[in-house]
Amino acid sequence: MNTDVVVAGAGPSGLSLAIALSQAGLRVSVVDPADEAALSAPPDDGREIALTPLSQSLLRQWGQWQRLETGEQPPLREARVFDGSSLRPMTVSPPSGQPQLGWMVSNHALRRVAYAQAQAEGGIDWYLGRRLQHAGREADAAVAVLDDGERIPARLIVAADSRFSSTRRAAGIPARMHDFGRSMLVCRMRLQRPQPGVAWEWLDYGQTLALLPLGDNLASVVITLPPSAIDSLRDLPEAAFNDDITRRFRQRLGTMELVGERFAYPLVGVHPERCVARRFACIGDAAVGMHPITAHGYNLALRGIALLADRLRGAHGRGVDIGDDAVLDAFQHEFRAITRPLFLATQGIVQLYGDDRLPARVLRRAGLRFGQHFPPFRRLLARTLDASDPRPPPWMRVAERLLWRTPRPRSD
Ligand SMILES: Cc1cc2nc3c(=O)[nH]c(=O)nc-3n(C[C@H](O)[C@H](O)[C@H](O)COP(=O)(O)OP(=O)(O)OC[C@H]3O[C@@H](n4cnc5c(N)ncnc54)[C@H](O)[C@@H]3O)c2cc1C
Repeated sequence: MNTDVVVAGAGPSGLSLAIALSQAGLRVSVVDPADEAALSAPPDDGREIALTPLSQSLLRQWGQWQRLETGEQPPLREARVFDGSSLRPMTVSPPSGQPQLGWMVSNHALRRVAYAQAQAEGGIDWYLGRRLQHAGREADAAVAVLDDGERIPARLIVAADSRFSSTRRAAGIPARMHDFGRSMLVCRMRLQRPQPGVAWEWLDYGQTLALLPLGDNLASVVITLPPSAIDSLRDLPEAAFNDDITRRFRQRLGTMELVGERFAYPLVGVHPERCVARRFACIGDAAVGMHPITAHGYNLALRGIALLADRLRGAHGRGVDIGDDAVLDAFQHEFRAITRPLFLATQGIVQLYGDDRLPARVLRRAGLRFGQHFPPFRRLLARTLDASDPRPPPWMRVAERLLWRTPRPRSD
């Protein structure tokens, strides 16, 4: 067997795992339906990813951050959260000693540098233009079967094939999906009154607006509405679109002008019951599909990748089978201690701040006032962005052990 791990999916998560494992001395095969041209120059998809200091340090450790070009990583210095018509936000600032909360990087730039770095690594075999069709998993070995019938024997198969992962489903892992009944429109806009380094999350009545600073008077604008309203907004002629968005932001940023294309995303949260099975693990959106409102998706993916890579490196170094149940269970335990509270908290925020009825409005306003006037709460929020260790703090590990035992059938 000359492959240790088969990774299904060459998105930013699958590629980052392939890099981390290759650097740990493991032999990796990557499978993706995209071809070389699409992976080396991925098209803009409108997503601007807010990255935390921990994510930045992992991307640097794996050689990806250094490949970004100057200007591709504008700083994020402060986040302001507004509720309804109130002009008084809750402000989240960097913890003391930190100059900023994080960085903004386009998703297509993250994909480009991940592929370039993965190409530069030895130890990765590529199976492009093909899909993983089936994962055969026995007690002592696994085999990845591709859609053209080619078979890749391995010790472990990892699904990194999006939140709707067909590989996870084929492995028999159930997932809870929550369709929020909303879509998101994302685009770049030029602002008459820019807010350098400042992000806005505006939990308005009937809509949610976000603004992510990109430098040069530009910002990424994110609007959440019912899907039919998003479709109409996407199809509006440009001048009418500019007027509409300027009005939605109540002229607080002056006039706003579209730069480039508009992209729409349906909002569906996905929480699989488990993220491991026999000789099988999930990472990235396949392991937890977050609502983007709290900007945790790729940040959590990178934490999970660091945890899995660490467990596999350790097992490999000790001469232990990397597909062993105990190795995978240890990864799952640490990863879910971090993701489960964040997933549940994010769902709660989306539900509360998507509710415009009077009692909810009172609670919404009270929540932000409490946050603004209770500095330890804001420090806790900033610390969730600033964790310097991918492992969960001890209290989260204990809570995971006591409160949420994750079932893991041995017969799968
Ligand atoms: C509008 C928006 C804004 C966001 N903002 C943020 C943010 O600010 N911060 C943050 O941390 N996250 C954010 N996210 C989340 C982030 O974009 C995702 O978490 C991240 O892109 C997931 O990457 P992935 O590699 O796991 O999955 P994907 O990017 O979905 O990649 C999956 C890959 O699997 C491949 N594939 C599919 N099926 C198969 C198969 N059968 N075999 C092999 N390969 C297969 C696909 O071709 C693809 O290349 C945002 C998301 C959205 C939609």
